[in-house]
Amino acid sequence: MPRTLDPELRRALTARIRYYNEMGIYDFYHRPVSVNTQEVTAPIAVDEQEIAVSINPESGEQMSPRKSAAVAMPVALEGEENIFGVIAPKPEQSVSDPVKALKIIREDLGDCTRCVLHKQGRKQIVFGVGNPKAELMFIGEGPGADEDEKGEPFVGRAGQLLNNMIKAMGIEREQVYIANIVKCRPPGNRQPEREECATCSPFLMRQIAVVKPKVIVALGATAAKTLLAMNSSMIQLRGRFYDFRPAGIRSNDPDWDGCKLAVTYHPAFLLRDPRQKGEAWKDLQMVMKELGLKAAKQTT
Ligand code: SF4
Repeated sequence: MPRTLDPELRRALTARIRYYNEMGIYDFYHRPVSVNTQEVTAPIAVDEQEIAVSINPESGEQMSPRKSAAVAMPVALEGEENIFGVIAPKPEQSVSDPVKALKIIREDLGDCTRCVLHKQGRKQIVFGVGNPKAELMFIGEGPGADEDEKGEPFVGRAGQLLNNMIKAMGIEREQVYIANIVKCRPPGNRQPEREECATCSPFLMRQIAVVKPKVIVALGATAAKTLLAMNSSMIQLRGRFYDFRPAGIRSNDPDWDGCKLAVTYHPAFLLRDPRQKGEAWKDLQMVMKELGLKAAKQTT
C-alpha cells in the first residue's frame, strides 16, 4: 500500500529545505532506506557525522575534516509530490555568459540588508572585480575604507601590494578575479563575525561557480577558514593545495568540478610584517607551478 508523508511533516520538511537554501545549501542526497522501516518518517536533520574530507592530492595527506552540506532525506515515495521541488536552481545557472551570470548574482544581492554590516557605516557593496573567466581568483576578508569608497576590492595600500604580487607572478590584475568573503566594510576594519561571513559567503560561492577558476588563493585566515570550513592556524593552513568546491552550488559546466585552493597571508598583514613576504612568495610560486606561470623579470 502506498505511503504518504504526514502533511505536518511535509510542511516542516519544506520549511527546513527553504532554510537550508537561504543558508546557501542546495545539494541534498538521500540515504537509501527501506520503505518497510520506520526510518522513512525520521525527521530531517543535518547529519553532523557526515564529513567530507579534503585530501591534498599531491601528498595524499589527510586534512582536518570539513563538514559537508549533506542532509539526510527520506525517500520520496511513488505518487507523492516531490518535496525537493522547492529547491530552485540558481538563476545564473541557466546563463552561459559569465558576465551576465555575475550580473544576475549582483542583482540578486540587491541593496543587501541580510547581515548587520549593512547598517554599520558601509557606503556601498563591494561585489568583486576582474576577469569573469579567470583561471586564478584571489579572495580576501572584506572591504576596507578605500574599497568602501571606490566599490572595488583591494584598491588601497594592501591592494597595491596585491597588484605587485600578481605582477610578480607574471600576470596582470585584469587577468584574475578578486573578491572578499563579506561585501560590506566591517566598522573600524574589524574582522567580520562568523555569522556575517556565513550570511554573505553564499553569494561568493555563486561567483566562484560562475568564474570557475583553476586555482583560488585565500588571502588571510578569515578567507581560508570560511572557504575551507576549518579552524586551523595560518601555519597549518599554508603550504599545500586543498580540493575546493563552492558549498551548496553546482556549476552549470559539467567539466568544472571545483578547483584547487591555496592559502597565503593577507597583503595587509604583509604590510605590517614584511618579513613574511618570502613565505607568501613561496605560496604564490606553488600556485604559479600549478598554472604554468613564469615569474616576471625583475626590472631595475
Ligand atoms: S556583508 Fe554581505 S550579507 Fe552582509 S549586508 Fe553586506 S552584502 Fe549583505
